Amino acid sequence: MRSTRYDQTSASWDVVIVGAGPAGAATAITLAKLGQRVLLVEERASVRFKLGESLPPASIGLVEHFLGDLGQAEHRLPGLYRTAGNISVWATEQPDVTDFFFTMTGFGLNIERLAFDEALRSNAVAAGACLLKGVRFESCERITGGLFNWQVRLSSATQTRQYRTRYLVDCSGRRAVVAGALGIQIDANDDRLFAYAQWYVCDGDDNDRYTRIEAVSHGWWYSNRLPDTEGNDTRRLVVLHSDKDLPVAKMAARRHGFDQLLDASTHITPLLKAKGYRPCGVIRGAPANSQRLQDFCGDAWLAVGDAAQAYDPLSSQGIDKALRSGSHAGHMIHYALTDCLQGGGGLGRHNTYIHQYEAQQHQLWHAYRTQREDYYRMQPRWSDQPFWQRRR
Ligand SMILES: Cc1cc2nc3c(=O)[nH]c(=O)nc-3n(C[C@H](O)[C@H](O)[C@H](O)COP(=O)(O)OP(=O)(O)OC[C@H]3O[C@@H](n4cnc5c(N)ncnc54)[C@H](O)[C@@H]3O)c2cc1C
Repeated sequence: MRSTRYDQTSASWDVVIVGAGPAGAATAITLAKLGQRVLLVEERASVRFKLGESLPPASIGLVEHFLGDLGQAEHRLPGLYRTAGNISVWATEQPDVTDFFFTMTGFGLNIERLAFDEALRSNAVAAGACLLKGVRFESCERITGGLFNWQVRLSSATQTRQYRTRYLVDCSGRRAVVAGALGIQIDANDDRLFAYAQWYVCDGDDNDRYTRIEAVSHGWWYSNRLPDTEGNDTRRLVVLHSDKDLPVAKMAARRHGFDQLLDASTHITPLLKAKGYRPCGVIRGAPANSQRLQDFCGDAWLAVGDAAQAYDPLSSQGIDKALRSGSHAGHMIHYALTDCLQGGGGLGRHNTYIHQYEAQQHQLWHAYRTQREDYYRMQPRWSDQPFWQRRR
């Protein structure tokens, strides 16, 4: 792995990446390994929780690509946990089992998100990227006539500084702050899906290695046994998805209402009761709607991960898509920058490589939309309920 260190105080970079989640870290690792001078900027100095913990078997190779051999990664990452499959009560009341045993790897992964994201960031630094934590992207301005295309304004708790860069990457998640600053609209197609998450703990063991999914009249639940990085209690996450404008959403945001809704679950509640789980901490909410940028890229900038397109958690594809498109974007930006230095044209969407990336983002969105529609249509019950009517 490349390990050139660049001066953190430098004001000029090849690529500035805004947001150091999986997409930002993967893009930074790829570009830094290819020899680009990368500044990776993350507004949060520390994070208390983050949703999104299961990876399907098809993502194992990607995780190994970015974090190294899984045996070693498991050793370094107490938050990595092998999973056996999904059990979903979806199309009927009968549980349907998808067993990972019959896949190429034979297992999927549950990850402790904070440890996983941190490990990716550490690998970005090890690859040679410069990481600024607690630093926020404020604005950007086009500059012309020299090597650099952008002047970017970043601020921390103590100072605001201007940086110049040849290329700008938006990896800021669903907020897509760079695209927003450039006036690119987010298209959410009126999807108001919202997630309400409650963590549970119990004193005994819970060896259940299946993700549990359950459709209900007002939305759907999932639950995952979580790895505990502190080595104390056994932890489980239970999440309800419903539309934010439905009355049930107001209920789900409060403990009493959440408990009432959960009581009606026939699949997840018995599991919690059997193990003696009790709620731990407050209910957290997060947007879970499908959305995409109207433009995935433009002149000397592009978006990666949730910033470009964010998926319904039903897909379990968000992290995979962030890592995969981070690798793709990193390569395409590198080739475009190299070509440009050799007099091979601009860095806009007409550039062959950037065009390729854009085309792939369109394909991904199309495939995702089709899959999502099919999956919701498979669930025939509660045809009088707004949540399901909106999805048919
Ligand atoms: C309820 C729920 C369950 C999910 N479950 C799964 C799952 O099981 N499996 C799965 O694969 N995916 C899941 N996901 C999705 C997954 O978490 C996301 O797709 C993934 O985190 C996207 O990574 P990202 O790097 O694009 O964005 P993020 O992880 O959101 O990272 C963006 C980063 O940008 C930073 N940032 C934002 N604004 C600025 C700024 N102005 N300046 C500097 N930095 C900034 C943020 O602090 C953040 O660290 C789930 C999502 C939800 C809501």
